[in-house]
Amino acid sequence: MAKYKIEHDRDGCIGCGACVSTCGKNWEMKDDGKSKPKKTSIDDKDFQCNMDAAKACPVNVIHIIDEKGKKMI
Ligand code: SF4
Repeated sequence: MAKYKIEHDRDGCIGCGACVSTCGKNWEMKDDGKSKPKKTSIDDKDFQCNMDAAKACPVNVIHIIDEKGKKMI
């Protein structure tokens, strides 16, 4: 069951690819040179990978929201 939501502010994405390098199972580069999450609802097994991607993002445009609506990053 999905417990967390991924928010990605694509306007601010600089296309560095760090999220894809860090968590390729849920992040991919698109034709416009910016990344995109494959899934925006994730559960515990995908949490750490996406959290690592969010921490790796140099412009902090990846956010993870918990089931209570609290922004974790
Ligand atoms: S790490 Fe951040 S800036 Fe870099 S591609 Fe991913 S979302 Fe975009």
